[in-house]
Amino acid sequence: MQDKQLVIGRFAPSPTGPLHLGSLYTALASFLEARSQQGLWLLRIDDLDTPRNIKGSVESILTTLELFGLHWDRSVVYQSRQQAVYDEILDHIEARQLTYRCRCSRKMLSSAVYSGYCKDRFIAPDNPHALRIRTDSRMISFYDALQGWITHHLAEQHGDFILKRRDRIIAYQFAVVIDDDRQQVNQVVRGYDLLDSTPKQIYLQQLLGLKTPRYMHVPIIIDRHGYKLSKQTRATAVDLAAPGTVIFELLVLLKQQPPPELQHAPVTELLDWAILHWNPAPLRHSQCIDSPLQIRSPV
Ligand code: GLU
Repeated sequence: MQDKQLVIGRFAPSPTGPLHLGSLYTALASFLEARSQQGLWLLRIDDLDTPRNIKGSVESILTTLELFGLHWDRSVVYQSRQQAVYDEILDHIEARQLTYRCRCSRKMLSSAVYSGYCKDRFIAPDNPHALRIRTDSRMISFYDALQGWITHHLAEQHGDFILKRRDRIIAYQFAVVIDDDRQQVNQVVRGYDLLDSTPKQIYLQQLLGLKTPRYMHVPIIIDRHGYKLSKQTRATAVDLAAPGTVIFELLVLLKQQPPPELQHAPVTELLDWAILHWNPAPLRHSQCIDSPLQIRSPV
């Protein structure tokens, strides 16, 4: 009999502030999906977009996860320490002429799909430029464990997207593909807001000959104005004083129906119950969830 493949999941927060309910919701879903299959759960800090990083966030994220019983395996990976790896792979891709230099400023980009203006222009390497990947007319299809079959026409829906920004920062789409592969992640659970990124990432996996993980995009928690919880929408950090209560609420929002007698249980007991009973099926085709909790900080 063939050995069952070890499931390797991950949580990859950006250090743009303390964890709020929305990010903890995703963390818990990916933790439960991995642990319920006796899998590993890794932690990666997506800290490449340095202008958006907020000092102290990394420490706060790690402390919060620990406090909520979401213990990760292996050591934390920091994207900011992998620059040499990204550069080397980018050099290979450039040598295969799969990319081109682009000088278009944000102002010149009128639509979300890039027009290809710089595609056949010569731009000297020492001229400040972004690096774009050439897309082709292929269809990218994948099965999302909650959202079902997703098919995108890459060139039409996404166009030639950026791998390295003009400010030399490695773009999320590229870094995530490299890191998931290096960490042997085979199960990506993340928020529905990233569903649109997945075909681009699968395209890069195909070009680089990398394996495509299984994907599960969980609904995002929205506030009463219909906005995704984020720092921009003033989502409050999770209440560190009552981790058990928060985990219980999150399990309800994950539609897990935890028994009422666990309402005041310690996190370890709640998580043991949740790992044993984890069933994401009630979240099928769900894109967002209204939070009944106080999730906005006062103005
Ligand atoms: N760093 C991304 C975020 O915080 C998530 C990346 C991913 O899960 O692929 O939204």
